[in-house]
Amino acid sequence: MSNLFPTNASVVVIGGGVMGCSTAYHLAKAGCRDVVLLERKQLTSGTSWHSAAQVRALRSSENLTRMIQYSTKLYQSLEEETGQSTGWLQTGSLSLATNKERFIHIKRQASLARLFGIEVNVVSPEEAGRLWPLIRTDDLVGAVWSPEDGRVNPSDLCAALTKAARANGAHIVEDAPVTGFTVENRQVTGVETPHGTIACETVALCAGLWSHSVAALAGVSAPLHACEHFYLLTQPLEEVEGHLPTLGDHDAHLYLRDDVGGLLVGSFEPNARAIGLNQLPKDFAFDLLAEDWDHFEPMLKNGIHRVPALEQAEARMLLNGPESFTPDGRFLLGESPELRGFFLGCGMNSAGMASSGGAGRWLAEWIISGEPTLDLWPVDIRRFAPFHNNMRMLRERAPEVLSMHYVTEAPHREFKSARDVRHGPLHERQKMKGAYFSQRMGWERPSFFATDGVAVNISPTFSRPDFEHYVAAEHAVARNDVALFDQSSYGKLRVRGPEAERLMQRLCANDMSAAPGRVIYTGMLNERGGYESDCTVFRYATDDYLIVTSTAQPVRDHDWVTRNLRNERVTIEDVTESTAVLALAGPKARDLIGAVSDGVLSNADFPYMSWQDITVGRWPVRAARLSYVGELGWELFMPISFAGAVYDMLFEVGGDFGLRDAGTTAMTCLRLEKGYRAWGHDLTPETTPLEAGLGFAAKIDLDTPFIGQEALRRQREVGLRKRLVIFTVVEKEALAIGGEPILWNGAFVGQVSSAAFGHTVGRTVAIGLVQAGGKSVDDMVSAGGFEVEIASRRFAATASFRPVYDPDGEKLHS
Ligand SMILES: Cc1cc2nc3c(=O)[nH]c(=O)nc-3n(C[C@H](O)[C@H](O)[C@H](O)COP(=O)(O)OP(=O)(O)OC[C@H]3O[C@@H](n4cnc5c(N)ncnc54)[C@H](O)[C@@H]3O)c2cc1C
Repeated sequence: MSNLFPTNASVVVIGGGVMGCSTAYHLAKAGCRDVVLLERKQLTSGTSWHSAAQVRALRSSENLTRMIQYSTKLYQSLEEETGQSTGWLQTGSLSLATNKERFIHIKRQASLARLFGIEVNVVSPEEAGRLWPLIRTDDLVGAVWSPEDGRVNPSDLCAALTKAARANGAHIVEDAPVTGFTVENRQVTGVETPHGTIACETVALCAGLWSHSVAALAGVSAPLHACEHFYLLTQPLEEVEGHLPTLGDHDAHLYLRDDVGGLLVGSFEPNARAIGLNQLPKDFAFDLLAEDWDHFEPMLKNGIHRVPALEQAEARMLLNGPESFTPDGRFLLGESPELRGFFLGCGMNSAGMASSGGAGRWLAEWIISGEPTLDLWPVDIRRFAPFHNNMRMLRERAPEVLSMHYVTEAPHREFKSARDVRHGPLHERQKMKGAYFSQRMGWERPSFFATDGVAVNISPTFSRPDFEHYVAAEHAVARNDVALFDQSSYGKLRVRGPEAERLMQRLCANDMSAAPGRVIYTGMLNERGGYESDCTVFRYATDDYLIVTSTAQPVRDHDWVTRNLRNERVTIEDVTESTAVLALAGPKARDLIGAVSDGVLSNADFPYMSWQDITVGRWPVRAARLSYVGELGWELFMPISFAGAVYDMLFEVGGDFGLRDAGTTAMTCLRLEKGYRAWGHDLTPETTPLEAGLGFAAKIDLDTPFIGQEALRRQREVGLRKRLVIFTVVEKEALAIGGEPILWNGAFVGQVSSAAFGHTVGRTVAIGLVQAGGKSVDDMVSAGGFEVEIASRRFAATASFRPVYDPDGEKLHS
């Protein structure tokens, strides 16, 4: 072995499961030389070999749908490329709904599938019974039939991928466990194995449930944890003839299909169990976990309810295999912000067979280009911070993630486990005042305040939630009086040093040379001109800036800023944890602050988009004149230690001005009415400021070049093929939540990026990207004729580039 063992590689892929095989294949196929895949035991010996291996395209997000669409095509074409079958079997899949919410959920998925050209049909219970003759249909509300779905044979798929990888020059080595890494100057430089060290500057970690511990050898976080995962196999049944579609009875936590003439019944059970690496033998390979019939019994009952023939079936085995899950149910992809050259492709959340074709391709592209080639934020490793890597927390969260695999993705869905990780300085006060919290980046943020102390039903729903009247009241207070939003969780990066301006000019699209005292709205763009971040920057001094971004972004933004440093003499510090932000917004904000402050707050003395140090009561704060809800407003920045007292003092006098707490749900409705875009939704690495209608915040003709400037100049010359448009859904009761297809004259032209019910305008307000093909989006908007498809029903929508609320910004400047 050691004579043949490679000593150098361009990329070392760790793990020979489906994700590692796909990554090695795509790297080699793209022309990457000297790719080495190291497998601890034999290929597929981890989780992949025992996968149920269904490939089902119906998903709730654009990227995941696109990715599985690519996997499906790849799995069908690999045999022609390699002569090795992947076992692809196009059986179709049938998703059942036994209640209204589930039916909306699957019809929403069907809408999204149609947008991507995937064939789907909404069918009646009777039709569902014809497609799957063994099922009981009397309790069904409806179903969705997807004829293009199928399944693979996992071992054959990996064999085909590795055969093609080898043919393109990749080196696959089995019985080669990675035991350590060499690192220099925060850059990986080699991979250690018992056979020797391989020098390499790029590693792709695809070690399945072992990834957390393998990453730890390099000091890198890989927040995932294994769970036990079950399916039952029966002996052949007379009633099962030929192949059946994959059946999703997700209200019963089940999927079913035929298997060797019998049935396979798999579950995502509510009482799932985590399993630690220390509970597995060290040489675990092609192994399984113990059968547990008591644990599976409720699922079996559900199965018999749906397929009565199952009652007579003889069990072949109850398969229990480990699979890894991440804190939010989406996999981990991309370069770790903790170590250069260390990429992750793991935590597949029981969708690894379906996802890995596309995920391996994206990971390979990311490695080769040095950055993602499309918007991969939903799976980007930088959505997590190091605290997420805590084993105790992961062990608590992972089973809940498995259990929630089949819950509907209705708004206001929140995990119950691993909560109360990060509290803002006002947390206890907010709790006392009836706050219902939602979790973001570990922070508990008030979603709304149930001010009357009545217990509220917060079950996720596609309909109007029971707590809507609280949100409406908060919304009204912000529009008519003054509301307080706790924005302490927002990401905050301090950039200081003699060359801070030089760096900021290169990183930001707006002119960052503005005088100290100014607040600058800007974006940080990639070379394609797309948004890597959307931020508000405070010029504190000539050598001192504060970048403020959304709660989810500080790890990613820190990574973006540091990886784009060019030896500038600056320090970059994440001050999110030490700085509280209380935002006051509404027509009475000036009167309220004026009542407790020595600040002179008139328009002339304290103009929009500027900041000043003022006192509020006994406390010095840095006040900035801006508002994310489109009202007269100030954001008060202060040390965490002042926040409680300042808050109390504001509420002591606030009654006279109608002051009320408001949460994140109201903020979303308010910002949408005002047409304000949000990064990660409306603004992505694939959207430019020109397309977003934010050209005013990008100084394209500035002499000082910035990243993305050339791309914007070219785009201005060529013209825009897509644009963000603001929609109002005409039908009052039609509720969009984001993700819905947009149609123009009956043809799909785009997708809603965010939407909410606007309580001022009394309609759903949405922002969405419209791709015009050969037409001008401006002409389309002038002509009208738009619709939004919500759960397979189309609703007329008015379109505009101007906000539906206060389009001229009079309130902001009042
Ligand atoms: C019961 C069950 C049913 C499933 N059904 C489906 C389904 O229907 N559809 C679907 O899409 N997905 C399904 N999945 C999930 C899917 O099988 C997994 O997501 C996928 O197989 C994970 O692949 P992977 O490559 O990430 O991990 P693995 O297959 O575990 O591969 C990781 C590899 O890394 C190797 N390794 C570990 N440590 C090292 C080291 N130090 N050095 C070198 N190599 C190392 C391991 O030996 C292993 O071979 C199912 C999973 C289970 C358990």
